[in-house]
Amino acid sequence: MGDTGMDTDVVIAGAGPTGLMLACELRLAGADVVVVERLTERTGESRAGGMHSRTLEVLDQRGVLDRFLAVGELQPVGHFSGLWLDFDESESRHPYPLMILQSAIERLLEEWAAELGVRVRWSSGVSGIRQDEAGVEVELGTADAAPAQLRARYLVGCDGGRSTVRKLSGIDFPGTPATMTALIGDVELPDLPEEYVWARRCPGGDFSAIAFEAGWHRVITSEYDRVPDRDEPATFEQLRESLVRLAGTDFGMRGPRWISRFGDAARQAAQYRDGRVLLAGDAAHIHFPAGGQGLNLGVQDAVNLGWKLASVVRGRAPESLLDTYHAERHPVGERVLHNTRAQAALARPGVQMDALRDVFGSLIVFDDVNRYLRGMLTALDIRYPVGCDHPLAGRRVPDADLKTPDGATGVHELLHTARPLLLDLRGSTEVATAAEGWTDRVDLVEARSEDDHWPVPAGGDIPAPTALLIRPDGHVAWAAAAGGAPDTTTLRTALTTWFGPASQG
Ligand SMILES: Cc1cc2nc3c(=O)[nH]c(=O)nc-3n(C[C@H](O)[C@H](O)[C@H](O)COP(=O)(O)OP(=O)(O)OC[C@H]3O[C@@H](n4cnc5c(N)ncnc54)[C@H](O)[C@@H]3O)c2cc1C
Repeated sequence: MGDTGMDTDVVIAGAGPTGLMLACELRLAGADVVVVERLTERTGESRAGGMHSRTLEVLDQRGVLDRFLAVGELQPVGHFSGLWLDFDESESRHPYPLMILQSAIERLLEEWAAELGVRVRWSSGVSGIRQDEAGVEVELGTADAAPAQLRARYLVGCDGGRSTVRKLSGIDFPGTPATMTALIGDVELPDLPEEYVWARRCPGGDFSAIAFEAGWHRVITSEYDRVPDRDEPATFEQLRESLVRLAGTDFGMRGPRWISRFGDAARQAAQYRDGRVLLAGDAAHIHFPAGGQGLNLGVQDAVNLGWKLASVVRGRAPESLLDTYHAERHPVGERVLHNTRAQAALARPGVQMDALRDVFGSLIVFDDVNRYLRGMLTALDIRYPVGCDHPLAGRRVPDADLKTPDGATGVHELLHTARPLLLDLRGSTEVATAAEGWTDRVDLVEARSEDDHWPVPAGGDIPAPTALLIRPDGHVAWAAAAGGAPDTTTLRTALTTWFGPASQG
């Protein structure tokens, strides 16, 4: 990094899905980044089993979704605490969960990161942090690597639920402790009846077996009578015994590939930023993995933070832009903790809970209830407070079909470069004139919408806007409604707020 005394712009602790996605976003936006990872190499642990619509969209916005679709399997339905949710094609181009193991997600993200020039340093766990006015010193060391130091403008802790970065920064992690324990294993189950998802509630808890790949299943048993110490290792024998207690048989279980344990502890970092240190992903929030939201939440934290942090390190936006990361993402994380607590409660055993599930199950078939819950689980309904009252403002932009002078495209395709986008859908000179001071960092594209109305998940159809300012994360910063001239004063305010002051001359 020349004579700045910095080794890089940003150090990211942790090469999990969040850290890798953030590294890609920072590189796309022109920042230099080093990822430091405590492990010596990938473990290949399967862990998370899927991605939801909004995560699929953010990968599509970068033009890399096909790599994930080629490996994963589309699912026809999702669920809320095991109660089925339908998806609606009008809400997204990707109205389905994609079943894909976390090990594959990490491999694909790592390949993409390497293409973008991201450097990953293995065997390099963060062990110390010192912030000053200009940067942060990051101490690295593990049992098998000599201690080293890196100096960067910012450090982002993407180092998982037990985040060292969070602890070293003294950021509180309030929440609720575990009240149950679940064992999980990827195993062969030769005696299981041939059904794709097999789940059953029992007096002491519940179990499920999901066929992930030919010949092997993911088995999960949940029991409520004891919460083991979280450092106690999970074993194949414990999983087998738990399944026998619940199901009365182990279905011939053998050949474990991976065994682990999780619970319903739910905690969230009190601040996502402390000066030059930020937190993202599980380092910022942990919760019961119901509905498969954790990895998605982390990847979307990364997409929210990446362009903002790159703008700040490149001197294009004031540091205060980083505070919008906490302001926008903390409430989203809070809502996930809330809905996973509700799902954990609904999963508890007992006749009262059976009755509550029965009532909840009869409500979930109503369209409005289904739409509300799927908006929440897919994260398609997120709306950030961006200070504009158009119905699209703050929401993720729908991937509407467009016609441009260069041919047909979709809005999300125009976001592949990860640059801010000003879409003029009316051919009005006012929009181009108002944006003159920002053309060095905002792409102005003239296009026509192929549709008169655009779908807004959980918001119904709205008339197609006549102009839109879209942030690199795909959220609408400003929009102009049909029927009237665009308000260029609010457009200029939005351009300044999100992308810094206008260039002179
Ligand atoms: C059983 C189970 C099932 C799940 N299913 C789903 C699902 O279907 N869908 C979903 O969205 N989510 C699911 N999740 C949640 C998901 O696995 C996590 O939310 C996700 O892994 C978080 O990614 P991350 O990158 O933030 O953290 P992690 O994946 O934990 O990565 C953190 C990385 O940081 C490294 N690290 C740790 N300490 C240091 C240090 N000091 N210095 C440097 N590096 C360090 C770690 O080695 C690790 O590589 C599931 C979780 C579990 C346990």
